[in-house]
Amino acid sequence: MDRVLLRAEQIKQRVHELAEEIGKLYEGEPSGLTIVPILSGSIIFLADLIREMPMPRMRIALVQISSYGQRATPGETKTLINLTGDIRGRHVLIVDDILDSGGTLRRVQSMLSAHKPASIRTAVLLRKPAKAPSDLKVDFIGFDIEDLFVVGYGLDYAGLYRNYPHIGVLKAGMMG
Ligand code: 5GP
Ligand code: MG
Repeated sequence: MDRVLLRAEQIKQRVHELAEEIGKLYEGEPSGLTIVPILSGSIIFLADLIREMPMPRMRIALVQISSYGQRATPGETKTLINLTGDIRGRHVLIVDDILDSGGTLRRVQSMLSAHKPASIRTAVLLRKPAKAPSDLKVDFIGFDIEDLFVVGYGLDYAGLYRNYPHIGVLKAGMMG
């Protein structure tokens, strides 16, 4: 790793805060909450987040989105796995690892809206303010970061480094 931007302990603390905030919002909601993580980058964030949210009526439905390759036009996406659960009339929280150009979240938000949920909110662990479009609605943000390609805590480079516990920037030689 060239540089660690966020250490595991820092991430843990922030995830705890987010879980409290989100938990309070849906507290007492009789129909509960359906979490829709965007695979695969969100899995570590998801696992830590939901275990800090003591919510009896929580469900999970999955989607998988991918960009059209490593150096694709920003915002270009395709759906690899369609929504795996029924969200009609349910409160939905989309969970993703990082908001970059916003293409992924835009696609998922519009995909899910078509299923007529009771509400849709979005939580991302990271946001790159330099790139994120201002008209895209995101309700919970863990950290704003510089416009750098980061890995770890679920985020990959060519499928690798998802299990690295911190979030950091790879050494130049380690990328392509
Ligand atoms: P967007 O569609 O917002 O441009 O990009 C979002 C998706 O691209 C994220 O869900 C993530 O999979 C990937 N992505 C964007 N920036 C980074 C980054 O810095 N590192 C990694 N590993 N993936 C990123
Ligand atoms: Mg992703």
